Amino acid sequence: MIQRETSASTPIGRPQGPIRTCIGCRGRELAVDLLRVTAESDGNGEYVLTVDSAGNLPGRGAWLHPDQQCLDTAIRRRAFTRALRITGPPDTSAVVQHYAVEFEGGTERSTRQQNR
Ligand SMILES: [Zn+2]
Repeated sequence: MIQRETSASTPIGRPQGPIRTCIGCRGRELAVDLLRVTAESDGNGEYVLTVDSAGNLPGRGAWLHPDQQCLDTAIRRRAFTRALRITGPPDTSAVVQHYAVEFEGGTERSTRQQNR
């Protein structure tokens, strides 16, 4: 008699892909699970950050968990400046706004669910 015991730990239907490092917590994650952020020059030597939701903006990208804490950490450490090879602290308001809209409802709510 054969019993199946494979349902617990086998990830099915989970796409594999390139691994990126979150610039907030420095954790490694599949790129599809991270947000890509790019910097656009405003022409005055300043940079404005944009969330690349479609994943097709040109230029260097910084990768970030969809987690408010990672965003806060990245801003505090000036990780964007380093990751995007830009000068000076960029305008992060668009990214902050994106997080506020996308993940409204507080910090307790997580999109990640773990069923064991
Ligand atoms: Zn992170």
